[in-house]
Formats: sequence, structure tokens, C-alpha cells
Amino acid sequence: MTFPGTMKYRKLNIQTQREAPNNARTEGFAFLVRAGYLTRENVPTLLGEYAINHLRDLSNDPSFLFHLSLPFISNVAETFFPVATGSIEVAQCPSCQYTERLELARFAKTAPAQEAELPLEKVLTPDCHTIEALANFLDVPKEKTAKALMYTRLTDNKFIFVVVRGDMQLSEAKLRQHVGDIRPATAEEIESSGAAAGYASPIALKDALIVVDDLIPQSQNLVAGANETGYHLKNTNHGRDYSAEIVADLVQAKEGDACFNCENHLSVLSVMRLATRKEYDFENILLALAETYHDTKGLTLPHPAAPFDVYLMHIPGREMDTRGKAEEIYNTLQNAGISVLFDDRDERAGVKFNDADLIGCPIRVTVGEKNLKEGKIELKKRTEANSQLLAVGETVPFLKK
Ligand SMILES: [Zn+2]
Repeated sequence: MTFPGTMKYRKLNIQTQREAPNNARTEGFAFLVRAGYLTRENVPTLLGEYAINHLRDLSNDPSFLFHLSLPFISNVAETFFPVATGSIEVAQCPSCQYTERLELARFAKTAPAQEAELPLEKVLTPDCHTIEALANFLDVPKEKTAKALMYTRLTDNKFIFVVVRGDMQLSEAKLRQHVGDIRPATAEEIESSGAAAGYASPIALKDALIVVDDLIPQSQNLVAGANETGYHLKNTNHGRDYSAEIVADLVQAKEGDACFNCENHLSVLSVMRLATRKEYDFENILLALAETYHDTKGLTLPHPAAPFDVYLMHIPGREMDTRGKAEEIYNTLQNAGISVLFDDRDERAGVKFNDADLIGCPIRVTVGEKNLKEGKIELKKRTEANSQLLAVGETVPFLKK
């Protein structure tokens, strides 16, 4: 999109809001709406588009994200920003920084103590439709049970029988990496394989691709279904009673699991994605900046992330044309390569100060009659309480420092 040649408040048609929108899920979003970067419907305004375009320009530098000073986490494929409302979950190791989408995260599994294989034993297990109920009924820990999950592969309708330990959750994303795209098997497909829904085991199946988690061959004497409604088998053993075509890591990591690299505890974080290997998500980067850089009054965007380095404003004068003087300063700053948002409205100082705080440029320059009579302007950093007076002619050298 093309922008107006001048960066003036009125031309950008900035609309700030006194109140946070009702639908604000985060403080960052609320301030982006209040400062006029986004509509309440999360659509960038002209100011928002300008800010996003500014980020896009900066992204020509490969280390762009580092310059924004965002607390991001990343792996080779993706970069994420932790935020409670994020729609993606990742596992992260606080020690070695291993970061992976939760459904694909590896973790160090603890192999159980080896046991001698005991003979198979068929037991009546009425109404044991869940691992929980089964473990309670037989009075065994869940890690001594085998959980069965049945799928059909999309490409060739192959019936796929999956076994993970009863104390763990299958990650379908990991399964897909080994077998391709799948869907849940139908009742007919389960029946024709010889399995019994709710009481299924991989023993003596017809035409099934058996896939097990890598802990299964290391876990002896597991309780599994008997492929007969109402019955389970005690002491099933991989290798003796059935064999898998694929043995792989198939289960989902959870908070506190041991890191695969360094064995420290993994954390599970909600995140939003800032970048892939191929492209940046500039709207999410703007939101991440707002989440990271705000105070109670508004945004506190740092250089170079801020769309403008300077918020320039005049206080309407009684005798002097402060707007005309501000316009001169605006041109001087722009010619010196300093990016400026010029609040050219004839509003009261208080209104403009509030908007300057909301919009969050690093430096505010105020042109007022009293100071101007002494040839000075007022300069205030957004993140500092005090302002200072500067001779008009010193403004550019000061800002270029
Ligand atoms: Zn680690």
C-alpha cells in the first residue's frame, strides 16, 4: 500500500480510544486498539499498516528480530512469542533452550525395571472401557497397561493398530510422521481386523500394520485387550505375543518431562508464531511488541521497532504560530532522516500528551509558546518521567546522537 507523503496525525486519521475494547484478550491488543493501530475487529488501520510496513522494511536485515529486543523462543523451523492467549503449545527446555511444538517434542523416557516375562492370563474385566477403570479394577498402575488406538491410512486404507503405554498420550502428529495421513478406523474396519473395540490388543490381528511406542518393547507384562468383549489379557509382551512393524517415539511430552538433550524439566508454553523459515508474521510481531512494551499509559515501543522515532506536537499558541514552527521542525527532522509523526491538530496539550503516550514513540518533542520565546522546545523520552529543554537548533544533533 502507499502512504501519504507526510506523516501527520490528521492525514493518517488516527483514532485513539479512552477505553480498552471489551473483547481485548491481552493488554497488548487493548493498547494497539486504544492507540489507533488496530480496529476493535483486529484489522490494522492506516497507522497499523504503517507500523507493519516499517517492520517489513527492517526485516531485510536477517537479525531483525534480535534488534526488536523481543523475548522470543525458536528452533530451526519457527520462531514463537510466549503469550497466555497463544493458540500454539510448545515444549521448551529452560536449560538448553530446546524448543518444539508440543505434539512433536521429544523427551527422555525412563525405561521401567526389566521383569521376567510371565504367562498370558485372560481375565474377566466387565465395564472396563477406559485405562483408568481397567487399572483400578485390576489394581495395577496405568504404566502396566497397554493403550490401543486404531486408524486407517488414507492412501491405501491400511488398518493401523497403535500401542502406547496406558500412562501416556499418543501424539497423532508423531504417528503421522511414520505412517502418513490417517483417520480413525470405523467399527467395521476394527471388526474385520479381528480386534474388539474397547478390548483391543495387537495379538493375532489380520492385515494390520502394528506400530508401537518405543517404551512398549521395554515394558514387560502389560495388561492389554483380549480382542473379546469383556476380557483383557495380563502379561502381554512385545516380541513374544506380537511384533510391531514400526517401533518409534509416538507419545506426547507434558510439563515436567525430562528434556531429551539435557534431562532438565520441560516447560509447556502457549505461544503465537512470529516467523517461519520462509516468512515473518508482521501482525503477530506488532502484537508481541505491544505485549512486551507498554506501561499503564500506553505503548512504550523502543527504537527501531517504533514506527516513528519522534512524536512531534505543537501546543496552540495565543500570540505565536506554534504550528508553523512545528511544521518547520518537522521538515528539518525529516530531512535529517529522523522519522516523525507530527500531531498537527489544534488540540489541548493534555489531549495530545495522552495520545503521545498511547502511540508510544520513543521521544516526544513539544513546541509551545513559552519555550519558543526563548528559542527552545521540550523533549521527553517516553519511558522517562522528566523532560528537558533544548535549543531548537540542537534538536537534530541531539536526536542523531
Ligand atoms: Zn534441555
